[in-house]
Amino acid sequence: MSETGKVDAKEFLRPILFGLAEEDLEELAAAAVQRFYPPGATIIREGEEGNAVYFIVEGSVEVVKQFENGTERFLHTSGPGEPFGEMALLQEGGRTATVRAIEPLTVLEIGREPFLKVLARSPSLSVRILVRLTGRLRDADRQAIEDLSRANEELTRALKQLKRLDQTKTDFIQVSAHELRTPVAALLGYAQMMQQHPKVREDPELSMLVDGVVTSTRRLHRVFNSILDVSKLMAGGLRVIRNPMSVASVFETLQIEFQEVLEERRLSLELVGLDALPPYSGDPDLLYKVFYHLVNNAIKYTPDGGRITISGRTVDVDDLGKCLEIVVEDTGIGIAPEDLELIFEKFYRTGEVALHSSSTTKFKGGGAGLGLAIAQGIVKAHGGRIWAESPGYDEETCPGSRFVVQLPLQQEAVALPGG
Ligand code: ADP
Repeated sequence: MSETGKVDAKEFLRPILFGLAEEDLEELAAAAVQRFYPPGATIIREGEEGNAVYFIVEGSVEVVKQFENGTERFLHTSGPGEPFGEMALLQEGGRTATVRAIEPLTVLEIGREPFLKVLARSPSLSVRILVRLTGRLRDADRQAIEDLSRANEELTRALKQLKRLDQTKTDFIQVSAHELRTPVAALLGYAQMMQQHPKVREDPELSMLVDGVVTSTRRLHRVFNSILDVSKLMAGGLRVIRNPMSVASVFETLQIEFQEVLEERRLSLELVGLDALPPYSGDPDLLYKVFYHLVNNAIKYTPDGGRITISGRTVDVDDLGKCLEIVVEDTGIGIAPEDLELIFEKFYRTGEVALHSSSTTKFKGGGAGLGLAIAQGIVKAHGGRIWAESPGYDEETCPGSRFVVQLPLQQEAVALPGG
């Protein structure tokens, strides 16, 4: 640099662009403008159009990449003799990173036109730039791999910790639900005894109060049972005890169980083709729960006067083989397409529904959002699958919903001793 602080561009560029023809060097030097930037100044901004390349005379810069969330990632620093900003010129695109001075900076700025003109006729300059770009790619590659493996390690650690926490939570839920269910079961027993007591039966007011206690306790008992079921499913502790059973008889029991509410809500429940189903080897208690939740939901999400149809058939399914297929269909409010899969997540409930404490068989009555998660877990434990179909959600037109359960018959042959 001269005493006036002005650099001799040609002599400065000569060693940097070693091998460049004299007239090319002269042309670049003639186009070069010397600029000074204070520390912190931005020379290139990511996304802007690239219209010049820079050669650092003195000082240094940091190159950073900016992310949409406002954070930025440091890529590298460059110092005296190094160029920056050539990428966008070569790609004819926007700047791919931001470059900032990290100390007082002097650069030679060469405009796009003269730089590309010299580049086009100078193999030496092209090779030099190519080598530089390749080097940078290799550095970026190494850094990306390092970053990835670091992130991977962190994720693995976090996953382990999450699994431990999840287990603790599952254990806690299971123990609490179990501990709470026992006294509630006793409470329910006493309340039912009181319900039958002559003194209570004779007194309508007392009788109404005791009925209320029985209904609420029964509901509490059911909720704890559901929580216990879900926690068992989460912990993978669900035991399927297979026995030859008739699916039809499960629905006959359910029909009796829901008879009162069906009448109250003027809902018809029709069973189609269930008697003709072959015997199935499954866990009757668990499958009862599956269909209990499906029928309960059909009742809950169908307005008074609606129709619930339960049909059964055997079907051949590509990956499951011969299956029992049971469909619970209603003329209710239906389910939006985006919810068809999500409703099987635990605690997932769609739209506005009544308070959770309201009756579970009232139209849009309460529920913990566990029924379908339990049903899915049990069906899967039987090697089967369950899904929902619906034209959509509409409380005015009530397009209805279908819940399809497929239970493979073949698998039982494998699972049964001697089968
Ligand atoms: P809950 O009924 O206790 O909320 P579920 O797991 O049984 O929990 O159901 C999850 C959600 O799926 C319900 O909140 C409801 O939005 C939707 N759903 C389930 N069955 C039906 C049905 N037959 N018709 C319309 N929506 C349903």
